[in-house]
Amino acid sequence: MPMSPAFENRLKAALPRIVETFGTPFHIYDAEGLHQTCELFERAFREIDCREYFAVKALPNPAVMRLLAGHGFGFDTSSISELTLARTAGATGDDMCFTSSNTGAAELAAALDAGAMITVDDEAILATLADRLTVPESLAFRVNPGRSLEGGTNHLFGEPETTKFGVPVDRLVKVCAQARDLGVREIGLHMMMASNVLGPEPLLLTLDLLLEQAREIEDEVGVPVTSLNLGGGIGIPYRPEEEPFDLTAFGAAVRERLTGWSSPRGHARPAIRFECGRYITGPHGALVTRVVNRMDKWRTFVGVDASMVSLMRPALYSWAYHHITAPFAEGRAREVVDVVGSLPENNDRLGRERDLPVLAEGDVLVVHDTGAHGHAMGFNYTGRPRPQELLLHPDGSVELIRRAETERDLFATLDFPPRLLESPAGQGDPG
Ligand SMILES: *Cc1c(COP(=O)(O)O)cnc(C)c1O
Repeated sequence: MPMSPAFENRLKAALPRIVETFGTPFHIYDAEGLHQTCELFERAFREIDCREYFAVKALPNPAVMRLLAGHGFGFDTSSISELTLARTAGATGDDMCFTSSNTGAAELAAALDAGAMITVDDEAILATLADRLTVPESLAFRVNPGRSLEGGTNHLFGEPETTKFGVPVDRLVKVCAQARDLGVREIGLHMMMASNVLGPEPLLLTLDLLLEQAREIEDEVGVPVTSLNLGGGIGIPYRPEEEPFDLTAFGAAVRERLTGWSSPRGHARPAIRFECGRYITGPHGALVTRVVNRMDKWRTFVGVDASMVSLMRPALYSWAYHHITAPFAEGRAREVVDVVGSLPENNDRLGRERDLPVLAEGDVLVVHDTGAHGHAMGFNYTGRPRPQELLLHPDGSVELIRRAETERDLFATLDFPPRLLESPAGQGDPG
């Protein structure tokens, strides 16, 4: 099921006023729903030592990040600007993880400087730390299981032995021994095999493999494994017929596995970490857009004032689906249409062959589940400014948490004659 009926109702009640005040298009996030998911997460893992480090790339907005930090979440970062955003949201030191992937010395230095916990993605990164920077006493390694986890991966990460991520599992003990010799006193293990999964199997396979590796490392290297990071990847039901991930049952299964594990050297059980993005914020965001054109040819095309600049996923991934509704046109006759943006890209469709009420210019459409990897993946191809972001508070008030880009922003890196920029660029992503 896409966005919750509760968010849908809250949004519908406030929408005429919001559209009037802010214009379209915009992404809007539901604070009430965000709080509820954070509380569900807390409850599901209450009985184990567990912390969520929200994947900043999913929704890099400090207003939402502060809300998550208020629930005790840390942040998973992978660039200098994401570290800056995490600090802006109040994170310090080990409230931050830094997941390296082909990371250079300057970025590693920034992560060390921030006191973030670094996840090393390759032996080369460990060498960079050792040769040019410092090796922290606590270090995590991203593990690539190769073929040992057949069936546990999915399309986003590629075949295990061709993916660029992680230290191959058959080299892990050797690399951990190197780390020990460089002064590492506690080790974390990280693995993320799949994305947007709706069942617990890939994550439990990951946990089993990491627990096994933790035993081996403690046994052979003699350094305690103090944390297991299962990454992100917990999915959300984008399609009406899909069921949500059962986080409570998953939490119980994780606890059971941990209880059955003991350290060969009598160390404490490792803490569990997650870096979920989509599961936390995905369902609590929506893209609101208005119809600007209707075009009848082979198909009927409903043209809107948002485009792949505002929401990239349907254009980028052929299988991606975002539910679309027309909250103020529900009683009308229905027809099957494609919902398209204004880019000269045939892929620029927010929805294909959707059964929607017959729409006319000015009608408001809501594109569901844009709270993760939505605005964040936006871009400026063909000179279209990215849209504004709003936060719907529990009391019904609405806060502008990122203004729409203007022409001035698009030309900020050019030496541009200011007199040509006098005319207002208009809102967001004009059709
Ligand atoms: C993208 C990513 C995440 C977040 O993924 P979601 O599908 O949004 O949960 C977490 N960890 C790493 C290393 C990632 O690359």
